[in-house]
Amino acid sequence: MVRYFDNAATSWPKPKRVLRGMKHYFTSVGGNPGRSGHRLSVEAGRVVLDAREEAAALFGLSDPSSIVFTKNATEAINTVLYGLFKSGDGVVTTTMEHNSVLRPLMDLKEKGIVVTIVPADEKGILDPGVLMNAVDDRTKLVVCTHASNVTGGINDIERIGLLCRARGVFFMVDAAQTAGVLPLDISRLQVDFLAASGHKGLLGPQGTGLLYLRDPGSLRPLTRGGTGSLSDREYQPDFMPDKFESGTVNVIGMAGLAEGIRYVRTRGTTNIHNHEKKLLSVFLEEVSSNGRIDLYGPLDPGIHTGVLSINIRRLSPSKVGELLDAQFGVLTRIGLHCAPGAHKTLGTFPDGTVRFSWGPFTREKDVMYAAHALKKIAEQNGKVS
Ligand code: PLP
Repeated sequence: MVRYFDNAATSWPKPKRVLRGMKHYFTSVGGNPGRSGHRLSVEAGRVVLDAREEAAALFGLSDPSSIVFTKNATEAINTVLYGLFKSGDGVVTTTMEHNSVLRPLMDLKEKGIVVTIVPADEKGILDPGVLMNAVDDRTKLVVCTHASNVTGGINDIERIGLLCRARGVFFMVDAAQTAGVLPLDISRLQVDFLAASGHKGLLGPQGTGLLYLRDPGSLRPLTRGGTGSLSDREYQPDFMPDKFESGTVNVIGMAGLAEGIRYVRTRGTTNIHNHEKKLLSVFLEEVSSNGRIDLYGPLDPGIHTGVLSINIRRLSPSKVGELLDAQFGVLTRIGLHCAPGAHKTLGTFPDGTVRFSWGPFTREKDVMYAAHALKKIAEQNGKVS
């Protein structure tokens, strides 16, 4: 038996209704949405609309067409970063970002965009004031992660959004680790763009992601092509969501994503977050007093998702991950988690950490089991320094 603690990479298992939705689409629908006009095409269009409406309802949005579907959070982030700037514009970001923010920005830097990277504190939490001190007249965008995929620490995006609005700069939230994991009402936040994975907290299949845009006019599309709309015109439609959705969308993915979000909405994000906070408390109670185990990040369930990074002293993260898997069937992720700057901030670069990430289906006894496995490995292999 395996116990899965890698929900920050992709959530698993998925709710049964996700599989049912995907099976229904492939066995009974199958058409291409918005293209052909026959009944199965129309039905496929309904599947996509259903997913869009579910996503809008989850994020407190009255207009489902403010959501664009992408293949993952990375594509959503790239859509904004490559669609917004002209040469000489500035962007402010942080040391805690995932490579899906950092790498496009390094490319854009070479193309004349001024990139400023602001440090988080030693626990990986951002000070909104420090972040805003880096904003100057050139700054067009502030982009930061809602919660770190390394520590699970949650940033105060409400405050950052307000400060960005007051300074007249766009604000993008990377919600890859928080969408579906904690309450996220975009209508109450000063957020211009929000990128999310469909396959993590939203419980959909891989190959799904989304982007919320407050003002679609502010961005050029990343791709242009067939949309099934205005086919007599050579230019990309400028209405939503077609402006940003060229080519056939991942309809079977949308069928699963709609059901994943429906599950999240039925169970409730507050309940899901409370569940994950409880699991964090259980895990911390078991391991925090162990002198051989180092824990990183804020460790305060109040500002935490279900992600926790640890190391066993004198053992490499890869060795710990290997032992957890081979001896206990505990599946974690080891290394840098695509966020090298976060590890430089925490002092865990270049080896990284062992990351545990639980989800809505993780049970308290799974977390206890994992904590005991960890302590056993620490006892057998680690030495107190
Ligand atoms: N941003 C953060 C904070 C993440 O944790 C991840 C994935 O782990 C991403 C972006 C990229 O997400 P995706 O794999 O959906 O592109």
